[in-house]
Amino acid sequence: MTTIAPQTAPEAVSRVHTDLFVDGEWAPAASGKRFDVVNPATEEVLAQVADADAVDARRALETAAAHQAEWATTSPRFRSEILYRAHQLIVTRADEIAAVMTAEMGKPLAEAKGEVAYGAEFFRWFAEEAVRIGGDSTTTGDGSHRIEVTRQPVGPCILITPWNFPLAMATRKIGPAVAAGCTMVFKPAELTPLTSLLLADILVEAGLPAGVLNIVTTSDPSTVVTEWMESGLARKVSFTGSTEVGKLLLRQAAGTVMRTSMELGGNAPFIVCADADIPRAVDGLMFAKMRNIGQACTAANRVFVHRSVVDEFTDAFAARMSALRVGDGAAEGVQVGPLVERKAVEKVSALVSDAVAKGATVICGGENISSPGFFYPPTVLSGVGLDADLMRTEIFGPVAAIIPFGNADRPDDPAADDEVLALANDTPWGLVGYLFSQDVDRCARLSAALETGMIGVNTGAVSNPAAPFGGVKESGLGREGGRVGIEEFLDMKYTATPIHRR
Ligand code: NAD
Repeated sequence: MTTIAPQTAPEAVSRVHTDLFVDGEWAPAASGKRFDVVNPATEEVLAQVADADAVDARRALETAAAHQAEWATTSPRFRSEILYRAHQLIVTRADEIAAVMTAEMGKPLAEAKGEVAYGAEFFRWFAEEAVRIGGDSTTTGDGSHRIEVTRQPVGPCILITPWNFPLAMATRKIGPAVAAGCTMVFKPAELTPLTSLLLADILVEAGLPAGVLNIVTTSDPSTVVTEWMESGLARKVSFTGSTEVGKLLLRQAAGTVMRTSMELGGNAPFIVCADADIPRAVDGLMFAKMRNIGQACTAANRVFVHRSVVDEFTDAFAARMSALRVGDGAAEGVQVGPLVERKAVEKVSALVSDAVAKGATVICGGENISSPGFFYPPTVLSGVGLDADLMRTEIFGPVAAIIPFGNADRPDDPAADDEVLALANDTPWGLVGYLFSQDVDRCARLSAALETGMIGVNTGAVSNPAAPFGGVKESGLGREGGRVGIEEFLDMKYTATPIHRR
């Protein structure tokens, strides 16, 4: 592992608008206040963006509400073509967007480019979906009435995104909202607003009319979002973030019976059965653990490995983890960037200390890296006890916790499957699970019994615009992407018409 020197901020950052974007215009917050956006690799202030309060929030939502009726009457093809053009523009400007994303969030440039490609795909996917909004027509059982079912945009939407995928979490919401004909207020995470502000520029160039998308940046999310939630003007909230804030928004949404989509936290089990293809499982865990420096809701949080293969698996995985290059994500060849903020390093470090105090062994990593920058090294812990805090908390860092299960001398004992299922499901979360086995019957049995919204079978990657992304239990409500993604932004309307027979 090497630490590579910090890079200077990319020139692209200085070209990003830093004001609020309301009604097609860039303007400072009413108070004139601004807040800092910091590069987590260097701790340098990259930009100062407008710091909105309730007054700005109100103006943005009133704007969205004022444009809703007109926007809803635009043709699906018109909306689709805006999204196609925006997709193209994102692809064309990929290097610039990736540079801004790496600077404000920390992920290595190669990963940022991967997110740009992934994020752009949501616009292409929903450009295709915009012109496929379906309906239904039938008659009542007694033949007296025609039943016509159509779909209409739900109305003005509140979109709230986290910092870990600054582009993809935005396009995954804006794409279907545009396709469905909804206007929006959008609040990106305060740690990473620049990528979202750049996206506004792209959507304007793609032809999105003024007032459809309104972006509000703030260091005080509670005040801005509460103003929106309690206004009575919004009909839908689509949130990606922690379960804690999701629950708060669900309580607020009850006040006006607002539609909700909640993409919340996870505590993903990663299961390596006795009959797994070990090199493939190691590859799978490298992706499922290390994507985004471990800061993903889909990150493998608890790695359950059958005792008959745990040493072989741990050695192979730790060798890969130790070889990773850590440093400023903007530098050539870096594979692991910093965590997003100092608090994140403190949290990860405390989780590792707790696991070790409760009996885990550090195989690699585990020591803080000196400042500047919020770095934590790739870390493998073996023999993690079920009482460790990280079993019940999202680690959100580059730490793999290996928990053995089963009997080392009895790899074929089916009781191991029941044991690992009970462990995997012993959590209030249910976003995603990963499963490695070469036995198709075992894969089918375990997949059916895992309490998660998504499962990766012999793969560590599940996210795709064509797939319905989302969780069960406290990981959320609703799905983003796939054929159902647009439904989250549509209301069903049924019209009854009498059938007159002569
Ligand atoms: P967070 O909940 O702290 O913040 C998410 C967003 O909510 C941010 O925009 C933030 O400003 C806003 N927010 C914070 N407090 C608020 C309040 N009181 N009222 C209204 N809005 C508020 O989460 P985070 O730290 O930004 O992101 C990490 C979390 O997001 C993790 O739990 C992760 O699992 C989850 N996540 C889930 C998915 C998914 O699709 N399920 C995807 C990415 C991240």
